[in-house]
Amino acid sequence: MSAPRPRQRECYREITVYSPPVESCALDLSDNTNLWGAPPSALWTINSLAMESIARYPQPYSNVLRERIAEYHGVDPAMIVAGCGSDDIIDSAMRAFAEPGDAVCMPDPTFSMIPYFARTNGLRIVSVPFDSAFGISAEDVLAVGAPIIYLCSPNNPTGTTLARSFIEAVVDGASGVVIIDQAYVDFGGDCLIPLTVSGRVLVVRTMSKAFGLAGLRIGYGVGSPEIVAAVEKARGPYKVNAVAEAAALAALAEDTDWVKGRIREAIENRARFTLELESLGYAPIPSAANFVLVPVRDCAEDVKRLRRAGIAVRAFTNLAGIGDALRISIGPWKMMRQCLDALGSPE
Ligand SMILES: *Cc1c(COP(=O)(O)O)cnc(C)c1O
Repeated sequence: MSAPRPRQRECYREITVYSPPVESCALDLSDNTNLWGAPPSALWTINSLAMESIARYPQPYSNVLRERIAEYHGVDPAMIVAGCGSDDIIDSAMRAFAEPGDAVCMPDPTFSMIPYFARTNGLRIVSVPFDSAFGISAEDVLAVGAPIIYLCSPNNPTGTTLARSFIEAVVDGASGVVIIDQAYVDFGGDCLIPLTVSGRVLVVRTMSKAFGLAGLRIGYGVGSPEIVAAVEKARGPYKVNAVAEAAALAALAEDTDWVKGRIREAIENRARFTLELESLGYAPIPSAANFVLVPVRDCAEDVKRLRRAGIAVRAFTNLAGIGDALRISIGPWKMMRQCLDALGSPE
């Protein structure tokens, strides 16, 4: 048969399939997941799920989970939209609040998935570089006039937080929606859910990091009921699967203390790891997340050395205003010790 190949969406031509630049290693400190593991109640729930429960569809918009998440944050369930990872929420919001060809404004550097989702939705990225103190001017951001402004606080990959006054100025002046990604807020910085009263803010949270459920893909957005309804339309039904929903409900009901305990340990180990890095001659950027960004002269060299020791970290080359850097996830101290020993060992 010599039928012509199906036409593909024009803007997909330059898109390559996402592949995180990390090889598997004995110790993986590259993706900022919960290195202590998953909450015990979630594991128990998955192991004991009645088999027939997965023969039927879950609720199309995860209403029980939305109610529990709303309770957890003290907001109305109509202010919560759940998705297949917070990536799903961000992707859906890009469809809900912009037309193809529109701009998404974001700081640089920030979450590497944002340019990807912008492109797959036919949107353009306009980035505004951080100043030397990891701040940005609200005027510069607002001058873009983008219908979607993406802010991440604490920011991936820098670990820095955005000033509250900056965020409030952006929200006040925005002509469209402001997506505030708080995937790491459990580890530092202000919770910005109160800003949702503006009716222009979608706060994005995830159960992939502090909650230890990355493999189940559960994220959610918090916003005004109108914002949430728009994201739900773009998202479509049945995105959170039944197993993930059951495990998330168990973790929220029984293991918030377990999660808090691991957050405390991560924060302690972050401080200790930062000091030890400094004593090795590194200058890590002070972090409010469960990872630390460490500027280095040539990240290829350090990556090789760590890999020889069986350790994977996330390497960045030539980040705006920073240069080469390693992003290292924080976990149990034994892992951090192993990483420090490898970094401190002679070439
Ligand atoms: C890890 C991460 C997420 C979480 O993505 P999920 O799809 O929920 O796993 C969201 N935003 C940022 C900035 C992240 O680093």
